[in-house]
Amino acid sequence: MAYDKPLPGDNPDTKAFWDGCRRHRLLFQKCGSCGHVRWPPALLCPNCHGRDTDMVASAGRGTVFSFVIYRETPHPAFQADLPYVVALVELDEGPRLITNIVGCPCEDVACDMPVAVVWDDVTETVSLPKFRPAR
Ligand code: ZN
Repeated sequence: MAYDKPLPGDNPDTKAFWDGCRRHRLLFQKCGSCGHVRWPPALLCPNCHGRDTDMVASAGRGTVFSFVIYRETPHPAFQADLPYVVALVELDEGPRLITNIVGCPCEDVACDMPVAVVWDDVTETVSLPKFRPAR
């Protein structure tokens, strides 16, 4: 069955991130001047305005910073997933990523809960980083 949910678009700023996801790696920009790891990608470091940028791979661990349980959805493709959790996960390296929490009942999700990345290979070319409770 074809994947009928929205997919990330082609964007030169996010290409390295999505290319990494395809290889099951969470890649973020890291400032070469101050070390700040940032998301979303940007030309300048939001911390020091430096342009010197490296890429760093996240270990894929973090905590739930905030979340919401969707019990209704305006998009028909998500109907079968209800209820589901959309969360802001704060990675150990610093960036906060909007994602889904999977692998547990919605009611078990809590702020500050440790989580680890899992990969949802939704098409042959797109893998989405989602998170499950860390053991
Ligand atoms: Zn910086």
